[in-house]
Amino acid sequence: MTTQTIEQSLKHATTLGSLEVAESYLSGDGRLFHGIDSVECGGESIQYINTGDTYGSTVCQDDYGNMWVGSWGDWYEFTESQQNERNHTVTCGNCGKRTDLNRDKWSDVICESCERNVSTGELPPA
Ligand SMILES: [Zn+2]
Repeated sequence: MTTQTIEQSLKHATTLGSLEVAESYLSGDGRLFHGIDSVECGGESIQYINTGDTYGSTVCQDDYGNMWVGSWGDWYEFTESQQNERNHTVTCGNCGKRTDLNRDKWSDVICESCERNVSTGELPPA
């Protein structure tokens, strides 16, 4: 199946009203899916048809019923960066927890959870 056909199928599937119906429709093309999953980011969540590929195009649905073609990985990164901007936090590259943006430069921030530099993962000089 061509990429264009897959994109068209995915686009049509977003008009079907529910992820279950969309999955059933898309399975008609012979594609295999891994069920419907959900992902949560800082209190916001979506559901998606699991293709087994974090950044692969699939059908996603938010808590308000809006459906779109996208990947859950892209949604997660976008949502996390928006929340960090709103809350003046950064996500620690070492432990993955969020910490206050307590320095001028992101690369100078020391994580409040693991106490390492969020950029390098190194312990600050004593
Ligand atoms: Zn950390």
